Amino acid sequence: MIPFSPPRIDDKIIAEVTAALNSGWITTGPRVKKFEELLARFCEVSNVLCVNSNSAGMELMLHWFGVGPGDEVIVPAYTYCATANVVMHCGATPVMVDVNDDFDINVEAVRRAITPRTKVIMPVDIAGFPCDYDALNALVRDPEVMKLFTPVTEAQRSLGRSLLLEDAAHSLGARYHGKALGSNADIVVFSFHAVKNLTTAEGGAIALNLPVPFNNEQVYKYLRIKSLHGQSKDALAKTQIGNWRYDVTEPGYKCNMTDVLAAIGIVELERYDDETLVRRKQIFDAYSAAFAKDSHFQVPVYESGDRVSSYHVYPLRINGITEQQRDEIMQKIFAQEVSVNVHFIPLPLLTAYKKQGYNINNYPVTYDNYSREISLPVYYDLTNEQVQQVIDAVFKAVIES
Ligand SMILES: *Cc1c(COP(=O)(O)O)cnc(C)c1O
Repeated sequence: MIPFSPPRIDDKIIAEVTAALNSGWITTGPRVKKFEELLARFCEVSNVLCVNSNSAGMELMLHWFGVGPGDEVIVPAYTYCATANVVMHCGATPVMVDVNDDFDINVEAVRRAITPRTKVIMPVDIAGFPCDYDALNALVRDPEVMKLFTPVTEAQRSLGRSLLLEDAAHSLGARYHGKALGSNADIVVFSFHAVKNLTTAEGGAIALNLPVPFNNEQVYKYLRIKSLHGQSKDALAKTQIGNWRYDVTEPGYKCNMTDVLAAIGIVELERYDDETLVRRKQIFDAYSAAFAKDSHFQVPVYESGDRVSSYHVYPLRINGITEQQRDEIMQKIFAQEVSVNVHFIPLPLLTAYKKQGYNINNYPVTYDNYSREISLPVYYDLTNEQVQQVIDAVFKAVIES
C-alpha cells in the first residue's frame, strides 16, 4: 500500500532527537530558541515564536488581539476545522465566505462580509498556494473598510484596522513576490503536525510582522510569557542558581514547544529548501504532466505569476462528476493499493457548524471544488515508480467509472 503522507524519519532526525534527550534539557530551551532563529531567517521576519500547534498559535493571537463575544472573524468555508474552532473558542463568530477555483479565499467575498463587528480576517493558503495578499492587504487598509473598524482593546486601537492573521498550516516555504511567506500578512502561523511539509510531530510557529507602532521583539517577549501561563520566568531561567522567584503577570495559556520536538524541526528546516521542496515539486510536476493532457482531469495551479506553492497537497479534480462518483473513484484507487484523501470536507457540511446554521448552498465554489477533488500522495520518500503507480491507479479508476 502506498501511504498518503508518512513523515521522513531517518538517522539524522533520530541522532538530533537523541542528542536533545541526552542533553538533560527536554522542554523549552536552547533548541527551541535555535529553531525560532532559523525560522525567522527562513521567513525573513524579525521574530518567530514556536508553540505546540498551529491551532494554539492562532488562538493565542486571537486572544492577544482581544477577540471575544460579539466579534466576527472572516474565514473560508473551505479549510480544516481548526481555522473556525479557534474563533469559536474565543466566543466570537466565524463568518464563512466562499473560495476561488484555486481553492483560496475569495477576496471580493471577504469584502462583502465585513461589518463593524469584523476584527480579524484569516486567509488560508490551501494546499500551499498563497492567497492574494496584495488584494487582502489593500482591503484591510481601504479607508472605507477601516471606517467600519471599531477597536476596543489597546492592540486593536494601535492597529486601527482588521488584523490579517494567516493560517499558513500548509504553506511554509511557499513564495509570494519571490519571498518566503512570513512577511506578507500581520501574523503568519505555521503548522508542524505530522502530515505537514515540515514536521516536529506536533508543533507550530507564529511569525510576527506587525506594523508600527508595534515592536515585534516586545510582542514576541510578551507572547512567550503568555504561552507559558503568564509566568515571568521560564523553567530554564529558574534553573540558574538562586533564581527561583517568579511572578504570574496574567492568567496565560500553556502551549510552548519542547526541545525534543524542536530537534526534529531543526533537521527538517536545514534540508527543507534543497531537498524537501525540490522533491515535492518534482512529484507535482510529474502528476501535472500525466493528467493535464487528458480532459477527464483538472490539474491544480501551483505556480502563477508571483505566487509559488509549497507543494503541500496535490488537489486533482475530476471533470463532470458528482460527489458520490468521486467517492466511488477513490474506492477504486484504494483497491489498487494507493492511499488518497480529500482536502477538505467544507465546514458547512460538518455537524458542528451545520448546527450553528451554516449552509453549504451559500458556498457554491467551495462545494464544487470539494465534490470533484482527490488529493494524491506527496512526500519526500515517494519514489518515481510509486508516482507512476499512483498515476496508473487514478487513470484506471477514472476510466472505469
Ligand atoms: C493542519 C491544519 C491546521 C492545524 O494545525 P495543527 O498544528 O494541527 O494545530 C490548521 N489549518 C489548516 C488549514 C490545517 O491543514
